[in-house]
Amino acid sequence: MSASSSGTAPRILLCNDDGIHAPGIHSLATALDGVGELFVVAPTTEQSAVGHAITVRDPVRAHSVAFEVPSGPVPAWGVTGTPADSVKLACHELLDPPPDLVVSGINQGPNTAVNVLYSGTVSAATEASILGVDALAISLCDWSEPQFEEAGRWSRRIVEWALEHGLPRGVLLNVNVPALPEDEIKGIALTRQARARWEEGFDRRTDPADRPYYWLSGTFVNLDDGQETDLSAIERGYVSVTPIQHDMTAYDAFDALTDGSWDESFGGTDFET
Ligand code: MN
Repeated sequence: MSASSSGTAPRILLCNDDGIHAPGIHSLATALDGVGELFVVAPTTEQSAVGHAITVRDPVRAHSVAFEVPSGPVPAWGVTGTPADSVKLACHELLDPPPDLVVSGINQGPNTAVNVLYSGTVSAATEASILGVDALAISLCDWSEPQFEEAGRWSRRIVEWALEHGLPRGVLLNVNVPALPEDEIKGIALTRQARARWEEGFDRRTDPADRPYYWLSGTFVNLDDGQETDLSAIERGYVSVTPIQHDMTAYDAFDALTDGSWDESFGGTDFET
């Protein structure tokens, strides 16, 4: 059932991994002003690339934060934890009832291909999906001087669509917007994650006590020439929307793993399905 079918304003939770004071989440809130009842629960500090980490050995605190959109103040909390912590805390403690939709972003920098696994932005949306709440992750493909307005307009269009139609169970949408002006964006494309990886190295340095330390560095390499990938869509000027899920079972592998050699080695168990 879509959130708007209840007849009341949909409750929309905003989160991110760049921190509650980052410009991207303010642009997102401004773009969504009037679409529903907005709430913001996001890490107090930047948590980019923390993936789906949660805090289990330390307390998590939430502090009320002033947060304004053009129509007025939005209830907002900064959380001393990760993006996934923020969504858990919002859904279980801070928002009653829980939100109808979670929107994570707008991230500064793309979250395409394998980067989905490292992304705190995507993980906030994934956590919502695990909790049974429809969710979107939105990223702008610009690291340096991001202009969030156009990504905000696309966010609003996609959010309005998601509120009206709902998402398939267990599926969230990972949205990447190319860093282009409005008239250069060609449209929107449903994509799959490209096969790509980082060719990594470490920059080894020495601290004042003469001990080595390391900075991770690397080059992102696209190994996929498919036209239907997230990387190809963005390169060609389309907003990329990849439906993703947290069930990481490799269903296609069952046939390969249950051929003769598997049965020879492990056969004879009475596991029933
Ligand atoms: Mn980030």
